Amino acid sequence: METAEASHFIQDIIEQDLKSGKHNTVVTRFPPEPNGYLHIGHAKSICLNFGLAKKYGGRCHLRFDDTNPKKEDPEYVHSIIEDVKWLGYDWGEHLYYASDYFQQFYEYALQLIQQGQAYVCSLGPEEIRSYRGTLTQPGRNSPYRERSVQENLDLFQEMKKGSFEEGAHVLRAKIDMASANINMRDPVIYRILKARHHRTGDAWCIYPTYDYAHCLSDSIEGITHSLCSLEFQDHRPLYDWFLEKLGVKCHPQQIEFARLSLNYTVMSKRKLTQLVQAGHVHGWDDPRMPTISGLRRRGYTPGSIRKFCDLIGVAKSDNVVDMSLLEYCIREDLNRRAPRYMGVLNPVKVVITNYPGQSSEELEAINNPEDESMGTRSIPFSGVIYIEADDFREDPPKKYFRLAPGREVRLRYAYFITCREVVRDPQTGEIQEIRCTYDPETRGGDSPDGRKVKGTLHWVSAAHAVQSSVHIYDRLFSRPNPLQDEKKGLGLDDTLNPDSLQKMHGCMMEPAVKELAPGDFLQFERLGYFCVDPESHPQSPVFNRTVSLKDTWAKIEKKMQNQ
Ligand code: ATP
Ligand code: MG
Repeated sequence: METAEASHFIQDIIEQDLKSGKHNTVVTRFPPEPNGYLHIGHAKSICLNFGLAKKYGGRCHLRFDDTNPKKEDPEYVHSIIEDVKWLGYDWGEHLYYASDYFQQFYEYALQLIQQGQAYVCSLGPEEIRSYRGTLTQPGRNSPYRERSVQENLDLFQEMKKGSFEEGAHVLRAKIDMASANINMRDPVIYRILKARHHRTGDAWCIYPTYDYAHCLSDSIEGITHSLCSLEFQDHRPLYDWFLEKLGVKCHPQQIEFARLSLNYTVMSKRKLTQLVQAGHVHGWDDPRMPTISGLRRRGYTPGSIRKFCDLIGVAKSDNVVDMSLLEYCIREDLNRRAPRYMGVLNPVKVVITNYPGQSSEELEAINNPEDESMGTRSIPFSGVIYIEADDFREDPPKKYFRLAPGREVRLRYAYFITCREVVRDPQTGEIQEIRCTYDPETRGGDSPDGRKVKGTLHWVSAAHAVQSSVHIYDRLFSRPNPLQDEKKGLGLDDTLNPDSLQKMHGCMMEPAVKELAPGDFLQFERLGYFCVDPESHPQSPVFNRTVSLKDTWAKIEKKMQNQ
């Protein structure tokens, strides 16, 4: 899928820097913390960082910001690597871990202490908080702020040796407790954590904080432009403070952009973890999740996600993007690329009474009307077929052009049929079969005498059908802004869409679907785009519906607004 890139303010900054000679290359990084799976918001940052590096012939690093061993897990490292690769990006040899720099971070901390710009503080976490002040009130100096350099060095080295319990001491930057920016009020840069790290094992029991480790990692790697989301704007003075005081050679420029929010879903890892742990979804890769792995299982393609990130653009102010834009991107991509098949989700039997005996024949069908190179396939036709129950009405309403008693319709790629009789179960009244006649002259779907029919139905030959299951997904939340709802006191039970998953069994598909492999995408004509679930078997296929053909939600919403 081609992407027509729009220019944005970060590109303007980069181009200015290249022109002025401030930089002669562009080095960016994507810095996930391995404490969860990546979501569509991360995709925005990935596309931006890798995209800019590519555009300007520079490079983009994948760096794990693994400084909090209590929350992190190698499972997440692995999934993040897979997801970034799947999105189509390549960091070459530039895979890094903040934990690789622990020794250097430590030495920088010693330097700050020696310069009188860091001190060991022995207030407890609660006290530190209360000394910090508020937005309207300045903070107070810690009673430990004036410790001598030697005392600080000794204590910090003892912290590193493991001589103290968690929470006994922290190392703080000595900046300004009266600063209007709370981030500058002597922020903590090291804390004692007696936790085993997934890469450094038990080598360390002090771990750096995000603000301290992040700017130093950027500097060590020679990053030119450090892109992050808007909430870090107030952290930028601190980012610059560390790098200035340490006098490092490379001082990257931090640039903030608005994070992606999408309606009808949540993107905070805290909320996503809650959905997984409470069993509201089947896991991080549940097709209803906004995670990259969930979208993949749902049938989203990397190209559609890149296109989406391109369309939403990069701006300085927060806004909420409509989920239908993401759906538009996958429809566009799959319309061009997905092979078409016929399948009946909710089958009702049609007997063609004048079709010769037990015979069958092969008809030719086009694989993708958007792309001739995808060729044709043959579909078996016989005297007993299935059509969609919804495509028949005994008492058709106005403008219903599908099958009804006495009415003639076209079977796609096959024949015209006319409904002659409806057979119902005498007890339940349920339709057992619909009896029709066909016109052998209309083979292929056109009548030689030029008569027209208004409806064209999809169908599957009963004797050849592959019985399948289909999972129909809808939005996970029924309300557009679940996080705001949470603030209003609404729980997940009030905001989750109870119909976000509908499992259908006994669906009947044309035999060609047997050749599809897990992960393959397709269109079932008139029904939507689907993909073969990873746990599907050729004997009993499972299809996930990625998206319907039309935006039914937009219609429902419109209706609700008009009510
Ligand atoms: P969450 O808020 O979901 O817990 P996070 O920001 O803590 O996410 P990180 O692993 O620290 O997750 O994020 C890695 C990078 O992805 C950061 O640079 C962050 O700014 C960016 N990022 C995270 N969420 C979004 C989003 N919704 N839109 C754009 N960028 C994002
Ligand atoms: Mg973060």
